[in-house]
Amino acid sequence: MPPQLVRKKHAKYFQRLLLQIMPSELTEFDYSRLTIAFFAISGLDILNCLNDLSEDTKLRAIDWVYMLQVTGAGPRSGFLPSPTIPKDASKYQCGHLAMTYIGLVTLLILGDDLSRVDRKSIIEGMRSCQNLDGSFTAAVIGCESDMRFLYCACCVSMILNDWSGINKTKAIDYILKSISYDGAMGQGPGLESHGGSTFCAVASLFLMNELHNVLSHDQLSRLRRWCLMRQDSGFHGRPGKPSDTCYSFWIGATLRMLEVNGLSDPDKNRAFLLANQDIVTGGFAKFADCPPDPVHTYLGLCGLSLLEEPGLSIMNAALNISDRAYKHLLKIQEVW
Ligand SMILES: [Zn+2]
Repeated sequence: MPPQLVRKKHAKYFQRLLLQIMPSELTEFDYSRLTIAFFAISGLDILNCLNDLSEDTKLRAIDWVYMLQVTGAGPRSGFLPSPTIPKDASKYQCGHLAMTYIGLVTLLILGDDLSRVDRKSIIEGMRSCQNLDGSFTAAVIGCESDMRFLYCACCVSMILNDWSGINKTKAIDYILKSISYDGAMGQGPGLESHGGSTFCAVASLFLMNELHNVLSHDQLSRLRRWCLMRQDSGFHGRPGKPSDTCYSFWIGATLRMLEVNGLSDPDKNRAFLLANQDIVTGGFAKFADCPPDPVHTYLGLCGLSLLEEPGLSIMNAALNISDRAYKHLLKIQEVW
C-alpha cells in the first residue's frame, strides 16, 4: 500500500514545538523563535488542525507576537525575531524584514485583526531598508540584502495595503537584472538561478500585480521551462542537485503563479514527499533517512497542499499562508 499522510502525527510535531520542547539540534533557532512559531502555527493551519490549540493559547500567542513589535523607532521599526533580545540593548532592538512579514502573517493565521500593528511605523522601517539598486536589506543595522527581503517587503506592503514603502520601479529593475542566462532568477544580478530566489522574484512581481506586465511572453516561457525542468521525483532548487522536500513548495508555488502547475508530475512529487515524512514522530525531512525539521515539515505540507492533498487547507501560494488566512486579511482590509 502506498504511504499515506500521517496528518495527526504532523499536528503533534508542531504542537510539541509550540507548547512543549524543542530538540537540542534546534538550539540555533533560539534567536529566531518567531520563525519556529510561524512554522508550527501556519503548519497547523495547513493541516486544518489550528483548532487543536485552545482559544487561550491562541490569545497568548497573539500577545507574544505583539511583544516582538518595535514601534515608533523610525528606521528601526518592525518585528524582532525573538524575545531573547534584551530590552535594554537598544542597539539590537531593530525590526527585521523577514520577521515583520512572519509576525504579520502569524497574527493573521491566529485570527487577529492587526489592530495593534503600528502600520505607519512598519512602513517607515521598511522604506529605510531599500537600497539604491532596488533590493532590500533585512534590517537597517548592517545586514545582508537580496531577493528574499525584497519579497518580504512586497508581502508586508500587500498585507498592510500600503505600497508607499517600496520604490516599485527600482524593485522591478532589481528583479529584471537578476534574471540569469537560463531564464530563472538568482538572489541578485549576476548570481546563479535558484528555486528559492526564483520563488521570491516571481511572488514579488505577482504581489505587485506586475508579473504579466513586466515579463515578456518569451521570458515567461523560459521561466516556466526552467521550473518544470527542476522536477525529477520531487523538485530540486538548482540543476544537478537532488530533490529536496522544500522545493515542492518553492517551485510548486512558482509553477502555480505561472499557471502551469498542471504540467508537472503530481504523483511522483507526492510519492517523494510522503517518503520523507517520519511516520513515528511526525515531521518531514529534507531527504529520506534524515531527521525531520520544522522548515521541511512546514514546506513539505505546503507542497502537498499545492497538490490538493485531501484534508489539507488550500494555500495562497504568493503569501505562503492558507487561503483561509488570506481571506481573513481581505476582510480586515475592507475596514481600513
Ligand atoms: Zn530544503
